[in-house]
Parts: sequence; structure tokens; C-alpha cells
Amino acid sequence: MLICAVCGSSNKKISVRRGICIDCYIKDGLIDYIKPIKLTICPRCYRIKKQRWIKFQSFEGIEAFLEDDFKNKIVTKGGVFIHDIQVSLSTNLHEAKVTLDLYLEDYDEITEINLDLPIKLNKTLCESCLRFKTENYEALIQLRTSNSKIVSEFENLLEAMDYEDFETLIKKVKFSYGMDAYFTSLRAAKKIVTEFRKKYDCKYKETKSTVSGMRFRYTLLLDMR
Ligand SMILES: [Zn+2]
Ligand SMILES: [Zn+2]
Repeated sequence: MLICAVCGSSNKKISVRRGICIDCYIKDGLIDYIKPIKLTICPRCYRIKKQRWIKFQSFEGIEAFLEDDFKNKIVTKGGVFIHDIQVSLSTNLHEAKVTLDLYLEDYDEITEINLDLPIKLNKTLCESCLRFKTENYEALIQLRTSNSKIVSEFENLLEAMDYEDFETLIKKVKFSYGMDAYFTSLRAAKKIVTEFRKKYDCKYKETKSTVSGMRFRYTLLLDMR
């Protein structure tokens, strides 16, 4: 009669090779490690970047895509194989509930485990949304200075306002002579300008141009040259 070397039980399935019962084997852990899960997603259209941008028709489509992705991220112990995987995403996409059916080779059994995995989200506009937004920006801040410290201060200010998350800040482009930042809203851009000018002395110039009909575009120049 086989007896589990760990718990002494004889009425459970015991692997001759391992010398322990299936319960003790499972208790010891079936996952070796999990690689960090990062997701680059477009906040406007929910395309996901994987080499190129992929479009999904539904939330379930994203989950199905992640199921394939997670198979490579979850590394099981030797003799344990992923038989089936189901991913359920939280609506803010920051967390995934994962149900795994694992095949235990030495016991010829399948067991289910559940994991809560954090997802590191990187929100960035995909190429087509970026193109759309850039064509439709309302305000452009032009910071002109060769002082890279001031440029990074300006960048910090943009980050602190959290505009990227709310898609107010469309894009920023760094130059040796400063930075351009494009906004969907003049009000948001002006808030940045006000904050910046509290701290730094600069020449300020506002230019308004007509895009079409009643639509205007504003260029806010912060000149420190
Ligand atoms: Zn046991
Ligand atoms: Zn997009």
C-alpha cells in the first residue's frame, strides 16, 4: 500500500514517482512563477498593442486575447501543464481573475486554481486615434527653451495634471529647443500655462487661428529664449 510521505494518508491518489499524495502535491504549489503582465492599450478605441495595434470587437475579445498571452506568462512547475485558461477582466482593466485548469502529469488529474493578477496598464493612443486627435487639436503649447531641466519640469507638470489619462493631452514632442504639447481643450492647456508661469518668467504669446467656420485653434507660446 502506498502512503503519502508528507501527510501519511493512504486513501488519496499517490504518485509512485513523487511519493506524495495529490493534495500535498497541490499544496506545495503548481505555479513556478508569473512574468509581469503589461498591457498597452489605446484609451479611445481599446486597441491593444502587440508588435502592432490589434482591434477588438468586444470586451470578451480582449479577454480571449489575454488568455493566449497569459499562457506564456504563467510558468508552471515541471509535470504541470495548462489545460485550460479563463480570464475575466475588471472593468478598469487593472486586474485579471484567472481560472486555470492544470493537468498534473504524475497523477493524470486536472485540478482548478484561481489567481488574481495585477495588470500594469500603459495607456497610449494608437496610431489612428493619434492621427484623428492630432488633426483635431484645439490648443498647442510651444515651450521654447534650451534648458532641459525646465523642459522636464514642464513634463512633470503635464503628468501631475493627469491629462494623458483623460485624453486631454494628445501628444508631446521633445526638441533640443523645447517641447510642443497638443491638447483637445484650450482650457486644459491654459491651466498648464498658468501653473508654469507662476514658476517661470517667460514671454507669453497667444495666437488664434481659424480652422473652419467657428472652430479655432490656439497656439500658446512660452518663450524663454
Ligand atoms: Zn499527502
Ligand atoms: Zn485607438
